[in-house]
Amino acid sequence: MSQRTPLIAGNWKLNKTIAEAEEFIQALLPRVFAADGVDIGICPPFTSLQAMVDSARGSAVRVYAQNMHQAESGAYTGEVSAAMLSELEVQGVVLGHSERREYFGETDKALALKVPAALEAGLEPILCVGETEEERERGDTERKLRHQIQEDLAKVPEDQLAQVVIAYEPIWAIGTGLTATPEQAQEACAFVRALVAQRSEEAAAQVRVLYGGSMKPDNAAELIALPDVDGGLVGGASLDPESFAAIVEAAK
Ligand code: PGA
Repeated sequence: MSQRTPLIAGNWKLNKTIAEAEEFIQALLPRVFAADGVDIGICPPFTSLQAMVDSARGSAVRVYAQNMHQAESGAYTGEVSAAMLSELEVQGVVLGHSERREYFGETDKALALKVPAALEAGLEPILCVGETEEERERGDTERKLRHQIQEDLAKVPEDQLAQVVIAYEPIWAIGTGLTATPEQAQEACAFVRALVAQRSEEAAAQVRVLYGGSMKPDNAAELIALPDVDGGLVGGASLDPESFAAIVEAAK
């Protein structure tokens, strides 16, 4: 048994208006009332952050943003800063999701600035890494993970590494209904932890590594029970309060 508290975070992506988010949280809260020993996060779009922070206040549910800019301020139309998020009292921020890397040109160079900027503002970053199907077939999974982890965490001091959450999300498993096998998930998450250990053994023992990619109520327990998997980053199945609560339950 690890000492690490599991985290189940629901990444809503581009889903839910404020009214729909309110409906979700009112349905979720009674279902996760007694979720001791599990950290619960929801990651709504920017527009619903304030409403979710207010509605979840005093509960076990924490609120995370899905992205932020690395600059403190400036001419970056359409962007928000870490300080703007922490002012809303959100817990943290998802960084480097594969959809942001693929559709919005998110680079490792930007992530190397975003992760420390989030930490400095008191936000818990959930850094996403993972390989494409092609990279896995070529045998390049470890090379890809090593590259992303080394680059994205390069400017995070050793004594802050454990504050970062790392989500291993094989891109071929995201939104496809294809889940990594327990062996694949364990192997990759253990590898991610070993990469952190190259910087700091102590941080590696504490850092939470999540699995993401078609996690659902019926496969969550098996994945979360793996020795190096400390929870999940859940997309599709996090949009429904009942299935999200069932995944939280599986992490207890
Ligand atoms: P999924 O998404 O659970 O719908 O596969 C996971 C993610 O993108 O974080």
